[in-house]
Amino acid sequence: MEEENKAKRGRPKGSKSESVVVEVMPAACPKCGSTARGVYTGTNRHFFTSGIHDGVEYTSITWRRCQCAKCGQTRIEKTYNVA
Ligand SMILES: [Zn+2]
Repeated sequence: MEEENKAKRGRPKGSKSESVVVEVMPAACPKCGSTARGVYTGTNRHFFTSGIHDGVEYTSITWRRCQCAKCGQTRIEKTYNVA
């Protein structure tokens, strides 16, 4: 009896998965690294400009000023808005 079942194992071809890994970075305090923040205050600008950020096309950018809930450091959070 001959063995003809060799090399017939493994993953079936053509099972393509289209998963994409994306990294969502929460805005963190540049000073203490905390992601906790207070309310957005003052500046809230919205720019209608388009471009590519991290491989994703955006149509506008929002700038919001807020304060770190931990150390009080003020920071501006830049949000890329995708259509
Ligand atoms: Zn902080």
